[in-house]
Amino acid sequence: MSDKPALLQLQHLQVSYGGIRAVRDVSLQVAEGELVALIGANGAGKSSTLKAVAGLLAPAALGRDSASAVLLNGEPVAGLPAHVLAARGLALVPEGRGVFGQLTVEENLAMGAYLRSADATQREAIAADLDDIYRRFPRLLERARQSAGTLSGGEQQMLAMGRALMARPRLLLLDEPSMGLSPKVAQQILELVQSVVASGVTVLLVEQNAHAALAIARRAYVMESGQITLSGDARELAANPRVQAAYLGA
Ligand code: ATP
Repeated sequence: MSDKPALLQLQHLQVSYGGIRAVRDVSLQVAEGELVALIGANGAGKSSTLKAVAGLLAPAALGRDSASAVLLNGEPVAGLPAHVLAARGLALVPEGRGVFGQLTVEENLAMGAYLRSADATQREAIAADLDDIYRRFPRLLERARQSAGTLSGGEQQMLAMGRALMARPRLLLLDEPSMGLSPKVAQQILELVQSVVASGVTVLLVEQNAHAALAIARRAYVMESGQITLSGDARELAANPRVQAAYLGA
């Protein structure tokens, strides 16, 4: 192992909604270039974990335990607002995609580069990135002038990922990208996730579809009732009888 800090490190993360403790104790790390999956049943606290990392929860929701921390590239970031984290290279594709249905595909993509667009020197780079997204997701080019609300679920997921990539993130947090999609389209989306990782973006992938997530991730964490209960190499986890019984329908 090198001395380089992990790109993302969570230490004893806690998240509460009022008196409800949704995340009790989550420690995990994601190294630069990795595809790491976080799997677990409905309500285990996976989305809350991602929202906490992305700065979408009020600092009060984060546990005050002195041992708890969120480190991005080794620097503590817990409690920083989402736009500051975005400027530091973090992007979240939320559950439900969150595309702007009234705006066109291209306008949605432009929104992804919003933080960069104030800088005139970025103009050419943004245009080049848009071309790159269209190369990667040709379906979005075909639909560029269409309003996003008319897209299929799989296309909206591509758009949400493309929009996030327009910010040039170092770390992409994906919340259930395969949700609500047919198995075939879900498979296509997860292949796109792999291609995003191959292009150098680090990904933390939350999935209820454990089978698909373990097939593409290098390492994975299993979350149950707000805690990490198992972790390790994705292939080893997929072969673990406990994981098979609980998540793989074996
Ligand atoms: P899912 O796959 O359904 O999104 P999850 O593993 O992502 O599940 P979370 O959405 O993080 O789980 O939810 C964890 C717990 O926190 C659940 O018991 C949920 O009901 C609760 N919870 C989530 N959001 C809120 C909220 N805004 N207010 C109160 N409780 C919440």
